Amino acid sequence: MTRTVVAGGSMAGLLTALVLGEDSDVTVVEPDDLAAAPDHRAGVPQSTQAHVLLSRGAAALEELLPGLQAELAAAGAPIHPAGMGPDSGFRMVGPDGPFAAVTSETDVIVGASRPLLERTVRRRVLAHPRIDVHSGRRLSGLEVDAGRITGARVRAGATEETLAADLVVDATGRHSRSPQMLAAAGIGPVPEVEFRPAVGYASRRYRRPTSPSAGWHGTMVLARPGENPRIGTLLPAENDTCIVNLGGMGGHYPPTDDDGFRRWARDLPDPGLHEALTEATPLSEVHAYRTPTTRLRRFERLRAPRGFFAIGDAVASFNPVYGQGMSVAALEALAVRAVLRRAPRDLATAARRAVAAVAAGPWSLAAGQDRPWTGDRRSVLDRVRDSYLRAVQSSATEDPVVAGAFAEILMMTAGPSALMRPAVLGRVATHRWHRRHDRPEMEVTR
Ligand SMILES: Cc1cc2nc3c(=O)[nH]c(=O)nc-3n(C[C@H](O)[C@H](O)[C@H](O)COP(=O)(O)OP(=O)(O)OC[C@H]3O[C@@H](n4cnc5c(N)ncnc54)[C@H](O)[C@@H]3O)c2cc1C
Repeated sequence: MTRTVVAGGSMAGLLTALVLGEDSDVTVVEPDDLAAAPDHRAGVPQSTQAHVLLSRGAAALEELLPGLQAELAAAGAPIHPAGMGPDSGFRMVGPDGPFAAVTSETDVIVGASRPLLERTVRRRVLAHPRIDVHSGRRLSGLEVDAGRITGARVRAGATEETLAADLVVDATGRHSRSPQMLAAAGIGPVPEVEFRPAVGYASRRYRRPTSPSAGWHGTMVLARPGENPRIGTLLPAENDTCIVNLGGMGGHYPPTDDDGFRRWARDLPDPGLHEALTEATPLSEVHAYRTPTTRLRRFERLRAPRGFFAIGDAVASFNPVYGQGMSVAALEALAVRAVLRRAPRDLATAARRAVAAVAAGPWSLAAGQDRPWTGDRRSVLDRVRDSYLRAVQSSATEDPVVAGAFAEILMMTAGPSALMRPAVLGRVATHRWHRRHDRPEMEVTR
């Protein structure tokens, strides 16, 4: 029988424990006390920041934990249709203005704060009879014999013990030490890609302002390389609250004092968010968070060890601006479940590949958007891609088909290739032509 240790009891670790619990006894090792976990705990310092659950992630979580959305709604979280418009739904503002209106029949955006979401997931997962939590302990090393995992070394203060295991999963987040642990066992190095978009956030919780709720329920103002490094997001949260995240790319970090926070919002290229703030009551301090780097660890390129895989931010820690992390973790957990149900001889190697395949699309999308901020030299292909993205965002202000394709990618209901659909390519080219020749466009319909 497989004995499994999952290191990390946050979103990726909990969801992985859930799927592996179908087939084995699972011990989750977590430094924080999960039984007494307060809203904001040391192991998840990003929990004060707004966390959007993208439509595809919401669907994946519902598949893993049926009834989750109803539970979140009962706890006061609004569930909104994922449609958007210049003055309604989820209002997306690109460098050239608000995107055209797009309706959505089935997709939703769940307005739950990160603590509410994680607490609800944790309660469900830890009720599983085959999942046990060892709080106050951290993974400190891997026992490997002849290329195969035999145990997890676990530390509690000055005491270290070894838990016998055939399968160890690293879900310890973006600061994962498993590359070093594998190196100590003579395995690796783990190939990795790193970018430095130097993103800083400042975030504050508010009582929900009344006027935007009549029209739009959330907004996101995007940055523009070379012109505007500022980002602003207002996301709905439970019990008539909302979370405002102000951000800056390329080392432009937003201030955390009251006046500076408002000024940063005022100087965004769109007035909507600042107008909403003028009538909103703050419910918290301003919390700052900086993520200088994003990283993709290529564990799937390792031949060994059998019995080890990583998941979640330990594999791909994205620029948080795109709100992908939790959704990717949920999709990766679903992919691991699919692997498990195929019962391969080497589960861990197949899981490493499956996780890498899920992370690849969101990583390439985020890396493409980050590249202009990193100061790295861009190839000709990069320049063509960046210029096309600019044209898409411009066209999306007037064309619902282009706006819809962009929204699908942002919500992860489609991959980056959605922007290469013939209808989208044609409309972007037409828009560009009209812009260049300064002529009004013909009316566009979906
Ligand atoms: C500022 C910011 C904003 C974000 N916004 C969004 C968003 O809007 N939408 C979204 O989907 N995602 C967002 N994310 C990403 C999201 O937080 C993560 O993708 C998500 O939490 C899944 O991460 P994880 O479970 O892999 O790691 P984490 O959530 O980072 O958790 C790691 C866990 O491992 C534990 N741990 C650490 N070391 C050890 C060890 N040695 N042994 C055992 N356990 C250990 C920690 O205590 C913690 O519980 C954001 C991230 C940041 C930084």
